[in-house]
Amino acid sequence: MSKNDISDGLQRSEISPVESMRKNIAEMKGYVPGYQPSDEAAYVKLNTNENPYPPSPLVKEAILKELGSDGAALRKYPCASSGRLREIAGNLYGFDPSWIIMANGSDEVLNNLIRAFAGEGEEIGYVHPSYSYYATLAEIQGARVRTFGLTPDFRIADFPDRYDGKIFFLTTPNSPLGFAFPLSYIRELAVRCSGVLVVDEAYADFAEENALSLVKSHGNVVVTRTLSKSYSLAGMRLGLAIARPEVIAALDKIRDHYNLDRLAQAACAAALTDQAYFRACTEEIRATRQWFTAELGKINYTVTASKGNFVFAVPPDRDGKRAYEGLFARKVLVRHFTDPLLAHGLRISIGTREEMETTLKAIQEIG
Ligand code: PMP
Repeated sequence: MSKNDISDGLQRSEISPVESMRKNIAEMKGYVPGYQPSDEAAYVKLNTNENPYPPSPLVKEAILKELGSDGAALRKYPCASSGRLREIAGNLYGFDPSWIIMANGSDEVLNNLIRAFAGEGEEIGYVHPSYSYYATLAEIQGARVRTFGLTPDFRIADFPDRYDGKIFFLTTPNSPLGFAFPLSYIRELAVRCSGVLVVDEAYADFAEENALSLVKSHGNVVVTRTLSKSYSLAGMRLGLAIARPEVIAALDKIRDHYNLDRLAQAACAAALTDQAYFRACTEEIRATRQWFTAELGKINYTVTASKGNFVFAVPPDRDGKRAYEGLFARKVLVRHFTDPLLAHGLRISIGTREEMETTLKAIQEIG
């Protein structure tokens, strides 16, 4: 019997599976998402940029309708292409459905973009600080990562006239800082990238500008969106990408063929259709963001003007950890990053006006 014979349990167990594992997977750390407390109702939870409002009432209605009285619809696979959603999203954003792909959260489509464009040893780039998950996805693929810093006026430091990485990920509005790159600047970057410029617009619904027009004018621009923030559907896992049909066709080859389940498809259609509700919620969050930013200014916190559903706020003593701990003790959960570029501040998601009043009171207590 050979040592690797599957029936030879004892001998096989002597071989560590790590030895067979791809080296980059064995060695990588893995992404750590924001803390989700098990007793989350006990906190004002402002650490993962979730929306404080429930999704459109049409969402629950659509999910219950899809389930029916006995859930029998779940016996059947969902629509593999999410075709109806591509039509709804295409109408909403002004694109033919062939320019749209739906995703199981925008993380899925970011992953598939790397798989489509960046082979082992090839380079992807992104701004640091922004969404570090791009680096994790690149590590899985065995791609190389190059990060670029920011200038004091929020442009990319030392970005070459010709950037030859396979993909450059531009998070705009930027998380955790909240600023957005102007459209004219993004257009310039698209020209300077010889590979694909992925504009990650997870927070664009809270901003005034977006880069959708560039998808039409510049063949190498891909825009990604999520329903996790502005449509209050983080728990449903829904995202999408808008790109030229050739890119969409490539992403379609890579994705899990049933990537959106039936309930997610029903929820997505309802949420995207109820634009009046969407507008009311996003406007409310923008108004609360403006109020909260002004109030923090009055107590000498420094806040970067934000275009997202969060603010990056720096306490007067520039000790983000102390402020985080003070808020945590008062059951207000915000995000503190240990990264030296960010450790002086806190990222605070915008909740309801009442939640932000509670948060402000806690901040005033801790100073
Ligand atoms: N991009 C950015 C910049 C994000 O902050 C997030 C959420 N953490 C995502 C993408 C992923 O969003 P989703 O929930 O759609 O996977």
